[in-house]
Amino acid sequence: MKYISTRSKNFEGLTSAEAILKGLAPDGGLFVPEKIPYLSNKEIKNLIDKSYEKRAVDILSRFLTDYTSDELNECAELAYDWFDIHDRVRLAIMSDKPEKAKKIKANQNNVTAFLELWHGPTSAFKDMALQILPQLMRVALKKTGESHEILILVATSGDTGKAALAGFADVPQTKIMVFYPDGGVSKIQRLQMVTQRGDNVNVTALKGNFDDCQNGVKKIFSDPQIAEELDKANVKLSSANSINWGRLVPQIVYYFAAYVDLVIAKEINFGDIVNVTVPTGNFGNILAAYYAKKMGLPIGKLICASNINNILTDFFNTGVYDRNRSFFKTISPSMDILISSNLERLLYHETNDPDYIKKIMDELNTNGRYEISSDLKKKLNKIFYADYAGEEEARSFIATMLKDKNYLIDTHTAVALAVANKYVKTTKDSKPMIIASTASAFKFAPAVLTSINEDISNLDEFAQLNRLQAISKIDIPRNLASLKTAEVLHNDVCESSEMAEKVLAFAKK
Ligand SMILES: *Cc1c(COP(=O)(O)O)cnc(C)c1O
Repeated sequence: MKYISTRSKNFEGLTSAEAILKGLAPDGGLFVPEKIPYLSNKEIKNLIDKSYEKRAVDILSRFLTDYTSDELNECAELAYDWFDIHDRVRLAIMSDKPEKAKKIKANQNNVTAFLELWHGPTSAFKDMALQILPQLMRVALKKTGESHEILILVATSGDTGKAALAGFADVPQTKIMVFYPDGGVSKIQRLQMVTQRGDNVNVTALKGNFDDCQNGVKKIFSDPQIAEELDKANVKLSSANSINWGRLVPQIVYYFAAYVDLVIAKEINFGDIVNVTVPTGNFGNILAAYYAKKMGLPIGKLICASNINNILTDFFNTGVYDRNRSFFKTISPSMDILISSNLERLLYHETNDPDYIKKIMDELNTNGRYEISSDLKKKLNKIFYADYAGEEEARSFIATMLKDKNYLIDTHTAVALAVANKYVKTTKDSKPMIIASTASAFKFAPAVLTSINEDISNLDEFAQLNRLQAISKIDIPRNLASLKTAEVLHNDVCESSEMAEKVLAFAKK
């Protein structure tokens, strides 16, 4: 399987190992598989009896054809061994079974299943990919004969930084350096990062906001002088963000896992069509569900849920992608995004026309806007439904779920649930629904607590966690509870003008 670029016909393509190390295609496009593999029903059924790791190896092996099965097995085992629960992902099934349930076929139950993707080391769904990406990179370095050390540079507004640190810590031939805005992340998020152990990690606070972090990192990536100095130190820069194919492909696995787990739970019959709702930011997670659908998993509609930064809702409903709009800070911060990079991959697969993709991406770059053809829009609308939820709406779903179902959801998952409900109301399509649950509610305790009318004005962050535990009767995730006593290992603070210097110093260490 070759990886080609979304933006040019003439690019010959690379192996998956090469694409994972490079991140971005030389023409600025994203790597996509030249063809999407298809699984027969029998092949999907074969996943039923497998562990999560084996399911991952099965799906990954169809895309990463240059990796041996031994290599993939090792990557999956190292990636997912930390996970608290045996299943790695867990389905919380809320089925409103009609009274005479036994007489009714399984697929007539009104099933909503929350696909909990946050049982990993940092309690956010990004672990699902960021635990295995470093392993895939480590093997790729070996396979391609790369002798340089790879330095992963990350600018973070909170969640990605910690998930990347946890994934790359002590992975051979790699180093990771994370910049976060000083005073611009929650106390828990800061503690998660500054207590990170590992001989190859660095965490630095930047005097500035998230944009300053991101701009600084971008500048370093494009500075030839820095590249030359790094080369002398035998170091190359790379990134771990969700445009990397190695971060996207592991996300396909859990949609297959969710489907076969619903079959195992007898909530659906094999072959039944399910809908999927995903709380969306950079369009990575929902794109993985799209790949799963293309691969033959019986998925009906993909429901793209946004918060009030609803650029994707407008895109799917009007055909116009326009980033010239206000930006809002919300209680679901990981979805506060105006450029959903992975949308480019979807548009490529639905057109197979790299010249067209290059044209509209150039328009986005210069005018901040593009409009797709009405044919393409029609095609997309067959697959996707898009809507958004406001702040109060999301809050009310957190409260209702806890009150009515005794089930705790975080702010991002609440946006997804609100939009899933709108979809069912609007379309009357009541097929079983899988909702991607992307973070533990404990990661967003202040917003979750105020949503259920708790007064938190006198509670520090650990008292908030305790309060949420008392209310929900759910244990605080270990990684968050242990922060109270964890040693702070990273105290560095720097100015924007010092970033390059800091990177070089860490690279040479
Ligand atoms: C990153 C993130 C999202 C958005 O996922 P994308 O793949 O960027 O669309 C949603 N929820 C949470 C909790 C996240 O961390």
